[in-house]
Amino acid sequence: MEKVAIQLVRNATLKIQYAGKVLLVDPMLSSRHSFMSFVEPGKDLNPTVGLPMSVEEVIEGVDAVLLTHLHPDHFDQKAMEVLAKDLPFYVQPSDKEMVEKADFTNVEAIESMANYDPIKILRTDGKHGPDKLLPTLGIVSGFVLQAENWPTIYIIGDCLWDETIERQIEKYNPDIIITNSGGAIFMGQDRILMNEEETLKVARKAPQAQLIATHIEALDHCQVTREALAKAAAEANLPILIPDDGETIIF
Ligand SMILES: [Zn+2]
Repeated sequence: MEKVAIQLVRNATLKIQYAGKVLLVDPMLSSRHSFMSFVEPGKDLNPTVGLPMSVEEVIEGVDAVLLTHLHPDHFDQKAMEVLAKDLPFYVQPSDKEMVEKADFTNVEAIESMANYDPIKILRTDGKHGPDKLLPTLGIVSGFVLQAENWPTIYIIGDCLWDETIERQIEKYNPDIIITNSGGAIFMGQDRILMNEEETLKVARKAPQAQLIATHIEALDHCQVTREALAKAAAEANLPILIPDDGETIIF
């Protein structure tokens, strides 16, 4: 099996070297405190931390972009400005129009699967929150990456743990699973991201996979800390990797 390099840039932004390609996932490239708070509307409090490297370094060498959904902590104004407009840009069908409106010219909507030779990009479903909030939060996706002789990677996206996620783990038997585990709270009430407990459920469901937990300590409505998740994982004796911003994990 070939080695994949997964770099956490910040929040859900990942730079993945896989099967000869460099994939940029969910580019949020704004500087610290440059867009709205999700707790105190009207104040620019997000992101709560800066990028661990320059924007130029983040986008250097990128061959394609994958976008799980359009929320500003996954695709922001800065990313729209700096990314080359002709990059292959893979999105869920409902986001194609908006990304094209941002002048990207090579946008492909993935209904179920896209062939980005030699990589297969499979789109997966999930829910960004409880049913009552879905009309507000919108449709979100995840992606499974497959390539011959390369580990299968499941990027779950901003999805709560549920039977859909469980079924997808069974279906794709991923070697690596990336969770968005910040436990974000919407308008001070409902949780709209996996927390420690749900992340542990993913780990228990996929004991053969290496879990990497991201989307932590970058936004003001995320409650989970790296320290709390690491403690929960250690207590449950489950080996979850929790990279720092800028850290690269190689398998
Ligand atoms: Zn998010």
